[in-house]
Amino acid sequence: MQETETAPLEHPVTPPRKVPKPKSASDRKARLQRILDELDTLFPRATCALHHRNAWELLVSTILSAQCTDERVNKVTPALFRKYPAIDDFAHASQAELANDIRSTGFFNNKARSLIGAAQRIAAQYKGEVPQSMTELLTVPGAARKTANVVLGTAFGIPSGVVVDTHVQRVSSRLDLSRQTDPVKIEQDLMRILPRERWILFSHQVIHFGRQICIARKPRCGVCPLDPLCYAKDKTLA
Ligand code: SF4
Repeated sequence: MQETETAPLEHPVTPPRKVPKPKSASDRKARLQRILDELDTLFPRATCALHHRNAWELLVSTILSAQCTDERVNKVTPALFRKYPAIDDFAHASQAELANDIRSTGFFNNKARSLIGAAQRIAAQYKGEVPQSMTELLTVPGAARKTANVVLGTAFGIPSGVVVDTHVQRVSSRLDLSRQTDPVKIEQDLMRILPRERWILFSHQVIHFGRQICIARKPRCGVCPLDPLCYAKDKTLA
């Protein structure tokens, strides 16, 4: 899931300010709650932007979204699922032909290999049903923790963890929710500080927030409602 174009935001522009760090555990807890409340106000119904009709289609789309925008994936998948309507169709696909079908998503040879491997594993090991546990999903080619969390959270509503993509990684660092750089360790930090019932929604909200406001280069701090809570070093101060 890559950077996409920013959408205009209906929020007054105010000069961003310098903010002190919270000093105690209770300050940090209160600050986190305010961050969650602001995200709820901004993105109350945030969900996955990848179009899908079932868990298998979401798994395919998530694998395709590596190093690619969701918009590009959503353009490719309708024709893809018409041509390969069932898991078995992917399991028996020609790798060269499938790679060509998904060429515009990039890394198409690796992705085609993963999709065929995933379909074959799910057909052989899980009776053609996408498994519903982290342990099982991690045995599926192409599904690391991030992909597994997307599928479990969005397709099955199972809070298995927190999706840590490039947006969640960047925003968690700027908001000082984690000081780790490894996505697995960032996820552990987020799972420790967030209530379990927030894990799924939080990821979706932060991904939207990272695309629209806290963008990679020159974050839009002047329109950011989290500005009073943010002491990021690369904040764009007026
Ligand atoms: S947009 Fe700016 S103020 Fe808002 S969270 Fe990102 S760095 Fe902080």
